[in-house]
Amino acid sequence: MSAPLTINILELTRRAGTLKDVVVSLPVADFAFGDDRIVATRDIDVELHLESVNGGIVVQGEVAGDTTMLCRRCLREISTSVAVPVDEIYQRVPDNPDAYVLEGEQLDLLPMVRETMLLGLPDAPLCKPDCPGLCPQCGADLQSDPCQCQAQRTDERWSVLDQLRGQLGD
Ligand SMILES: [Zn+2]
Ligand SMILES: [Zn+2]
Repeated sequence: MSAPLTINILELTRRAGTLKDVVVSLPVADFAFGDDRIVATRDIDVELHLESVNGGIVVQGEVAGDTTMLCRRCLREISTSVAVPVDEIYQRVPDNPDAYVLEGEQLDLLPMVRETMLLGLPDAPLCKPDCPGLCPQCGADLQSDPCQCQAQRTDERWSVLDQLRGQLGD
């Protein structure tokens, strides 16, 4: 299996200031996201600019993809475009707490790209901001299929109010 995100860094790290671009589209299966928020995703577009600095490599760019997720409330499928900026540093001897460790002659960018993409996904995707979700009693999709439970509960609420009014009136 080819590994388009594994870069030989021997040449790159020889001299600070050396640049390298990594621009690829990869099938989502390559990332093994294992995240149940993701239902399906088209290819992931990776565009990274690597710059060799003293003791490491700075990686900047963007990771983007169109993802299908499920609405957190009603489980409808939603298509989301995710584009996450990348600004990371790899260091031989990390002095930056956020740095990735650079080892050997190969740099595998895939774990970082996977993490970046996952961080960029919404935690609680909604099909629309005011999605009413599913009825907790009968499971009806309240957006397209208003059920009777809701009306009943409103009635109950009113009847409590009526009772209170009645008591106050006494
Ligand atoms: Zn929804
Ligand atoms: Zn219901």
